[in-house]
Amino acid sequence: MKVFKFGGASVKDAAGVINTAAIICAEPDQLIVVVSAMGKTTDALVAVTRNYFDGKIDEALKGIIRLKEEHLHMVGKLFVSGNEKLESTLLDDFEALIKRMNIPPSLNYDFEYDQIVSTGEMVSTEILATYLNHLGRVTKWIDAGHYIRTNDTWREGEIDWSLTRKLLPQAFQFDQNSVCLTQGFIGATTFNLTTTLGREGSDYTAAILANIMDAESVTIWKDVPGIMNADPHKYLNTCKLEKLSYREAVEMTYYGAKVIHPKTMKPLVEKKIPLYVKSFIHPDEVGSMICNIDHPMDYIPVFINKEDQVLITVSPKDFSFIAEESIANIYRLFSKFRMRVNLVQQSAMNFSLAIDRPERDFEQLIQELSEHFVVHYNDGLELLTIRYFTQEAVTECTVGRTIYVEQRTRKIVRFLLK
Ligand code: ASP
Ligand code: MG
Repeated sequence: MKVFKFGGASVKDAAGVINTAAIICAEPDQLIVVVSAMGKTTDALVAVTRNYFDGKIDEALKGIIRLKEEHLHMVGKLFVSGNEKLESTLLDDFEALIKRMNIPPSLNYDFEYDQIVSTGEMVSTEILATYLNHLGRVTKWIDAGHYIRTNDTWREGEIDWSLTRKLLPQAFQFDQNSVCLTQGFIGATTFNLTTTLGREGSDYTAAILANIMDAESVTIWKDVPGIMNADPHKYLNTCKLEKLSYREAVEMTYYGAKVIHPKTMKPLVEKKIPLYVKSFIHPDEVGSMICNIDHPMDYIPVFINKEDQVLITVSPKDFSFIAEESIANIYRLFSKFRMRVNLVQQSAMNFSLAIDRPERDFEQLIQELSEHFVVHYNDGLELLTIRYFTQEAVTECTVGRTIYVEQRTRKIVRFLLK
């Protein structure tokens, strides 16, 4: 049995759903299909959550209605004579969101986020499953909340592996279906409250499923030909990396390569399950393969860009040094706000950290840091990592730009740039 994962780009419109269904129908064996929310639905639902939480209910409602119309429009295109059952399911989903807007939110933004944003995956899977059944490919729709069990770390639920291991095989009984289709990104607590696994977390869902179901492989279908040595949307001459070791893939994703969610690799390594990254535009072409190999890469430079970085520099208020104790306290604060540190640099009097520009709590962070330190920060920076760098590659990427931080090891160079 294989696991296929389709991201938002693959199902962004009716043509995308038709194409995705064709890829699924071309696979003769039993298949587990994991699907994300369609197109930019998740971003739109995040905006709804923010408006709801900030009391801008009209804006929030407008966002929901827009999404409802987009999804119903898609159904209209997929089913020429309509599909009443599907339409009414979707209407119920959006109606539940609308009703939610009429009651005041709890005080926990992250909790509200999970309850609202998860709708994106519910509706996308309802549409795709119904369409597959309509084509004659018997498909069972499975609610991820029934088997992916997490703790209540809202927005970043941690998997309860023992419970998930027990529930998952009960949910994925193939019976007479050959496709089991489910939502990526979503889980639930033992109290059946919805959680999410972190942005772009559907890849992780696919890996969890593959691990527990002992799948022979996972395929992530993307709008790029495979894992590239640089983002083809940003760089002119990119090339595909045909085979990568798990370790190389972990390093790349950790530094911000967006092709795969960083948590994906661990469940796969454990069972040595290969991961393919393939193009949904050219499904017959070979993509990239991540597997249990040493390191076959020819060491061509690999470029990884992470935008929207903030460099925060703290220094003691008196002339004392930055010591282990204060570093531990600084890290504790970042951990409290759940902000991941992407790069650090230390001198006697300064300690600098780069993080993704946070959606919320940034002012609060700066305020708390300022209680103990003098704090400066620079916004709108880019973190560029070049693995297996050459001098030529470095010059090309940095010429004419202001470098805030530069770090080099034998094979890797990292810049924080304006
Ligand atoms: N729809 C979610 C997101 O956009 C999860 C995913 O795409 O993997 O973050
Ligand atoms: Mg996505």
